[in-house]
Amino acid sequence: MSYKSDIEIAREAQKRPIQEIGEKLGISSDHLLPYGHDKAKVSQEFINSVQGNKSGKLILVTAINPTPAGEGKTTTTVGLGDGLNRIGKKATVCIREASLGPNFGMKGGAAGGGYAQVVPMEDMNLHFTGDFHAITSAHSLLSAMIDNHIYWGNEQNIDTRRVVWRRVVDMNDRSLRQITSSLGGVSNGFAREDGFDITVASEVMAILCLSKNLKDLEERLGAMIVAYRRDKSPVFCRDIKAEGAMTVLLKDAMQPNLVQTLENNPAFVHGGPFANIAHGCNSVIATTTALKLSDYVVTEAGFGADLGAEKFMNIKCRKAGLAPDCVVIVATVRAMKMNGGVAKADLGAENVDAVKAGCPNLGRHIENVKSFGVPVVVAINHFVTDTDAEVAAVQEFVASHGAEAVLSRHWELGSEGSEPLARKVVEVAEAGNANFAPLYPDEMSLFEKIETVAKRIYRADEVLADQKIRNQLKEWEDQGYGNLPVCMAKTQYSFTTDPNRRGAPTGHSVPVREVRISAGAGFIVVVCGEIMTMPGLPSRPAAESIRLNDGGQIEGLF
Ligand code: ADP
Ligand code: MG
Repeated sequence: MSYKSDIEIAREAQKRPIQEIGEKLGISSDHLLPYGHDKAKVSQEFINSVQGNKSGKLILVTAINPTPAGEGKTTTTVGLGDGLNRIGKKATVCIREASLGPNFGMKGGAAGGGYAQVVPMEDMNLHFTGDFHAITSAHSLLSAMIDNHIYWGNEQNIDTRRVVWRRVVDMNDRSLRQITSSLGGVSNGFAREDGFDITVASEVMAILCLSKNLKDLEERLGAMIVAYRRDKSPVFCRDIKAEGAMTVLLKDAMQPNLVQTLENNPAFVHGGPFANIAHGCNSVIATTTALKLSDYVVTEAGFGADLGAEKFMNIKCRKAGLAPDCVVIVATVRAMKMNGGVAKADLGAENVDAVKAGCPNLGRHIENVKSFGVPVVVAINHFVTDTDAEVAAVQEFVASHGAEAVLSRHWELGSEGSEPLARKVVEVAEAGNANFAPLYPDEMSLFEKIETVAKRIYRADEVLADQKIRNQLKEWEDQGYGNLPVCMAKTQYSFTTDPNRRGAPTGHSVPVREVRISAGAGFIVVVCGEIMTMPGLPSRPAAESIRLNDGGQIEGLF
């Protein structure tokens, strides 16, 4: 049997006008700002008007540590949203927007897959409603204003060797990682070292995703540290007086984007911060708005649960006052096999022993998520090659860990295939057993926060950090930043900092290479290992085969 590609399925979608999707959530058409026929932003006025509503239940979708076999978090998020609607719950999906640059490197989309997708997927993976372009513009405005400030006399006494505000572009371009700017003579300013990150790595992105409203956004932008003086005191964005104009540029980007699933159910696609140096989930404003309009909101966190779910809980939920009612951990038989030592090429053959050998990775994620006080359901995202015996092995393992694993066939069948998962999630969420609490209190010292995550989530024995790093943390505490949560940046492939260590290792240590402050977003970034904030393109970039066909359709993207 042959299966259609994601894009073929998406092209056949029977989309409804976006006003009809808005109606399902009670958003009248005068509060929808349409971008074409199938995308719309929701007006701030409407968002303000629903603040008094009761909130629905919040379901987080996360996963085991990713393997090259693929897990399908977004696909399962969308499938579960459709499944909930199928059984009569008013459910909204909340996911991230896609970064444009990486699409031209590797083939792949961010809108789900099979019969569990958000449409229009081509738009979503390209310019969409322009939010990322707005973020690039706002970020670039500040970049320009910093150098302009230095050029016109440097009233703030910025040490030009210590400008920490880098530049951004939404493209994978390794040649821009480290550059020299302002070359070419007196009229071009003072030459200095500089560099570019990809737009999703901008602190502006993290801020947009954590801000409650435009006022909050402006304050947070103003609080960003952009440089240091010779005496090492910080220079803030507000010292450069850029936050007002940046907020103007971001005014529309702050409003959530409404689109639909293949089954015409509502989906908010909004924001897309990196999951390493930032918290990796869609915007607070989209999630909280969806909660005011729905019985259920299904949302996704990036990477595996050790990074994604941990940050969702300790950063997003803490800041926004959210509390998940149930967490769905996505696992696949294929990924269990890879964790059990099977090579990617051999994943097609049945291997129950390897599935069993790989399950401890899943087991630890179940324990970890439960330690936040939230009940867990495991979704086995079904691949057509999975055998009954392999599925049963996962289910047995999960049962022995005090949870239930439900086989879900949304990729193949849409909501018909995810109905059992939806029923289980409703049963668990409505039992009301969630008693969410973040892992550590605001008052804990920054180093202890790092240790708490490393020991309780990664199960490491110790955190290794030079005196220089400890001093830096202490300095931030003295400056009043001690109450911030920590944002761990480590490999997504392992509980450890070594991407090759699969399964559920213990006895390792977590070396901290560097710490950075995102004072506007409101977290301390803890870099453990090599972290890339400007990706490159592969030797044969997908862009070489992307084109428009004679019918005007996009080829080669997915
Ligand atoms: P994640 O959000 O975890 O990164 P996605 O949901 O985006 O993963 O899925 C990644 C890719 O895997 C997509 O191209 C999707 O079509 C594919 N995929 C997901 N689930 C399945 C499945 N059950 N069978 C086959 N392919 C799948
Ligand atoms: Mg995803």
